[in-house]
Amino acid sequence: MKAAIELNKTPRAKPSRSGLNYFVKTFGCQMNEHDSERIAGLFEYDGMLKANSLEQADVLFINTCTIRENADDKLYGTLGQLKKWKSENSNRKLLVGGCAAQKDKELVRERAPWVDVVIGTHNLTNIVNLLNQSEDWGPITEVIDEIESLPTDAPSIRESEVSAWLTIQIGCNNSCTFCIVPSVRGPEISRRPSDIVNEATAMIDSGVKEITLLGQNVNSYGRDLKINGSSKPYFTELLTELNNVEGLKRIRFTSPHPKDFKPETLIAVNDLDKVANQIHMPLQSGSNKILRKMQRGYTQEKFLEKLNLAKDTIEDVSLTTDIIVGFPGETDVDFEETLKVIKESQFDAVYMFKFSPRPGTTANTMDDDFIEKEVIDSRFMKLKEIQTEISHVRYKRFIGTDQKLLVEKYSKKTNTFMSGKIDGGQTVHIPSQDVSIGDFLDVRIIEATPFALTAEII
Ligand code: SF4
Repeated sequence: MKAAIELNKTPRAKPSRSGLNYFVKTFGCQMNEHDSERIAGLFEYDGMLKANSLEQADVLFINTCTIRENADDKLYGTLGQLKKWKSENSNRKLLVGGCAAQKDKELVRERAPWVDVVIGTHNLTNIVNLLNQSEDWGPITEVIDEIESLPTDAPSIRESEVSAWLTIQIGCNNSCTFCIVPSVRGPEISRRPSDIVNEATAMIDSGVKEITLLGQNVNSYGRDLKINGSSKPYFTELLTELNNVEGLKRIRFTSPHPKDFKPETLIAVNDLDKVANQIHMPLQSGSNKILRKMQRGYTQEKFLEKLNLAKDTIEDVSLTTDIIVGFPGETDVDFEETLKVIKESQFDAVYMFKFSPRPGTTANTMDDDFIEKEVIDSRFMKLKEIQTEISHVRYKRFIGTDQKLLVEKYSKKTNTFMSGKIDGGQTVHIPSQDVSIGDFLDVRIIEATPFALTAEII
């Protein structure tokens, strides 16, 4: 659905909302976090300043998600609570974007008529124009189904001064049955390598030290570009190009798809000095029956083959994964298969999700096979228990080792500690004395919990 009025896609030439404050609330994945940074950048270009809290905000943007557990309930619950916020001041503006907005379109305003702007995932850079539009003409929904543009050089305001997301690809060509992404974000489209390298260079000029390449399926990056007439992925070459960018300290990427991992990419991860020795390989389930139902495109055996190749190729690789517990039809035997793979794989961390049906996905129609909540909860707890023990063992391997730490921020709990990440992606806390944000330090690890490490400066 496209709005009837043809709208100018560039931000206003002159800041128009000086003195007003914005607040962005983000649900969901890294792609949404990065989109929120771009929204913040567009708002600041328009003259607004970031509010410290909702109460101080004149303009509120909710970036929604459809992937996480009970995402719909959370969204409409949040919008319900915001009715009061909106009614306290008639000048306040409430804007909703992201995957749920793309999926629900007018339904958002039907369920929450106090929302001023609903915008889809494909036209985010039009947000300021839509805000203007709503002020002049009243509430507006602009959700387009076709891909309008790739990530542009629209300004973005990053949460971290030294670590930044860099989108290399949008959309996805796969059709995992639990996932709404292909229908709300469209098919895979890769950005040109030169644009990516230019953006990385500009980021470094503004103080960034580490970039995380972002896409739904990064290791198939470039297939659509047909570089040199070939439809082979260009991801390994992209890593090599970025590794040569002066001033850049570290490169990460997420999320790759296990079926698309190529041996040459793993070799590049090991050999390129700036590419972190960390691989996120989303398993989702260890059962071949469930993997088939999920349409993941690999078996348990193939997954383990790729994982073992990563372990053999990359020195002291840190591995993480995603697991969905309680996918429709998952029996105790299927779940045991997942636990078997978890024990064998020895991941540093596992991101665990309880299955919950998402409207618009194939899995949503598998209601005959839905698993009882109590069963999902108890399987989830069992997985968590097992993985916590594995993570603790994995994290303890760092005690006494020397690592490179990029200091990113003050620790959430206390100002006497700062935190950042080492090469493998593990969070590290370090006393804040003599340490500044952006320092790339040699540290020694002295303590480990299953979730974080503590270090001292060498
Ligand atoms: S690979 Fe599967 S889970 Fe990932 S974005 Fe594509 S469809 Fe969704």
